[in-house]
Amino acid sequence: MFWLFLALLFSAVARAIAPLPKGLPCGIPFSVTEKRLDIFQGLMNGTIQNHQQGTADLLGHEGGPQPWPRNARNKVVIKYCYDYPSTRENLEQALEYEGFAVWRRAMGGGPSATTGYGFEFSEVKDTGGNPLYCVDGNDWNEKIPKDTIAILMEYQPNSAGSATVGYIHEPGNEQPRQMMMAISMDRQQQTIAHEIGHLLGLHHEHQRPDRDDFVHYRCNKIFGFLFKLDQLRRYIHDPKPPDLCDKILHAWQVEFSGVDFIKGEALGDWRYNPDKTPKSWPVNKADTPYDIKSIMHYPSWNEAVDGCARNRLSYCPLVERLGPGRERWIEDNLEPSKMDVEWVKKTYPWIAPP
Ligand SMILES: [Zn+2]
Repeated sequence: MFWLFLALLFSAVARAIAPLPKGLPCGIPFSVTEKRLDIFQGLMNGTIQNHQQGTADLLGHEGGPQPWPRNARNKVVIKYCYDYPSTRENLEQALEYEGFAVWRRAMGGGPSATTGYGFEFSEVKDTGGNPLYCVDGNDWNEKIPKDTIAILMEYQPNSAGSATVGYIHEPGNEQPRQMMMAISMDRQQQTIAHEIGHLLGLHHEHQRPDRDDFVHYRCNKIFGFLFKLDQLRRYIHDPKPPDLCDKILHAWQVEFSGVDFIKGEALGDWRYNPDKTPKSWPVNKADTPYDIKSIMHYPSWNEAVDGCARNRLSYCPLVERLGPGRERWIEDNLEPSKMDVEWVKKTYPWIAPP
């Protein structure tokens, strides 16, 4: 909201930072620079049509989210800045103790040969050790490298947080705020730890292509389902539930929360498409067993209609499958699981400095 406010107030000056649209998905596998948002805006207002699917993996495909690069000391330093001092005041403690510390504990300590991983998050500071803020005056702070994650406050109701997925670097599009993490005021530990998982490159476990073997997804139990299905009439004739539930770009067009539940697919990029239409990244099928304990797995109540409860599982959009006719409530995961940790160690192994 601040971005929108700023943009309205200083639109002649603040060209470098575009307002974020509402209804961003939880994990965003593309940069949130002006150019990208223009295209997604076009998708929402129908001036861009979707008729192509991608074939890329979510992590490791040219043009898509990548693992974070190493510096000359073989370390992965993930830089971040708060947009304003007020955001830092509100979120700093939470980010440190409910986010970074939770991950460090799960990893067995800080980056080292012993713990076996080699990344750290680092706030951008001046030579005196004072924090530098992403926004200076009305524009991006020129002292801050453009591949720094911007930490923002989330003001949308019903939205706990969102973050870009992995390292997003677009040669030729060196704009600021390519990567971001937005956290709401009433955030909880699981949200912050989850969004940090996105920043590292993880995507939703319940979007794995093989998830139907392990969970039941009931799209019509996502809050706003009927209303969003009706809204889809703006884009297609006589929309049916699968148009909204299985087609990621339709879900995105009407800002349906089901966008974060679609099997095997995440919103993607379009630059490598001959006709420049948007496409999606398939979510990697991990070679590890399905992990209901992953910090990247939603609990049963997330985005649910009223009525979803432990004793009313049929009202919940996501439940664990135990066998024919048997289901189980999916608990809140408060910290990274064993397999989350394994993935991170495999993706960012410790490499001794040269
Ligand atoms: Zn997420």
